[in-house]
Amino acid sequence: PGRLEARGVGKSYRSGRGGTTVALTDLSLSVEDGAFVSLVGPSGCGKSTFLDCVAGLEPYDTGELLLDGRPITGPDPRTAVVFQDPSLLPWRSTADNIAYGMTLRRKGTAADRARKTAELVELVGLTGFERHYPGELSGGMRQRVNLARALATEPELLLMDEPFGALDALTREQLQVELERIRLAGRVTVLFVTHDIEEAVFLSDRVVTMTGRPGTVSSVFDVDLPRP
Ligand code: ADP
Ligand code: ADP
Repeated sequence: PGRLEARGVGKSYRSGRGGTTVALTDLSLSVEDGAFVSLVGPSGCGKSTFLDCVAGLEPYDTGELLLDGRPITGPDPRTAVVFQDPSLLPWRSTADNIAYGMTLRRKGTAADRARKTAELVELVGLTGFERHYPGELSGGMRQRVNLARALATEPELLLMDEPFGALDALTREQLQVELERIRLAGRVTVLFVTHDIEEAVFLSDRVVTMTGRPGTVSSVFDVDLPRP
């Protein structure tokens, strides 16, 4: 589960006065089950566009996008997305924000949900902050809540678009360690968009670099670093 296959994906945006912006041309890429793959490249090369297409949030014009062999035609319950700005529910606590999706879908019993929430709180290092509201948390902590909330849906594919982009260097580093822990747990396929090559190398099994020309992949390399 969570195997992603892109074959010749292309997309243009329509702009005012009938013009178009080519955002992706002929992007091919496969991400196997359970892998952590980063997509790096200069601003404007189409990384976010690709991620939005994979998330089913934007239609693509050409090619094929397959999740576990089936075409992606819209948002899919197997996929969770984490963007740079966490849109948490401000009037709900950390625990309630994390549990929100499970509660809506009445997943398991209340006790099951509470247990799962506690596990996730621990995984992202928020023990002691369960009852805090988003406004009482730092930016890094809010992004941790966001990550835990995404994982609460037990996605097969986790998409992240510059999730640490708005954070300071130290907080970023701490969150990379959390994410490394999630990667090692290995239960989810991750596609991670960043402009930070160092971050990509630290976190990934494989790094895909794109050139300035929209959607053009210039290299794909496997990271073979000793892991802690
Ligand atoms: P990246 O994430 O690599 O910075 P994007 O996918 O955001 O690249 O952008 C790729 C190209 O598509 C850029 O030229 C950008 O200006 C354009 N673009 C992105 N989103 C839109 C949009 N909603 N409408 C029009 N053009 C867009
Ligand atoms: P993070 O790396 O999660 O963004 P910070 O670097 O902002 O966290 O803060 C470091 C530590 O300070 C946190 O792990 C937490 O223990 C504590 N802290 C941060 N913000 C608050 C807050 N609003 N109320 C209480 N403690 C906080």
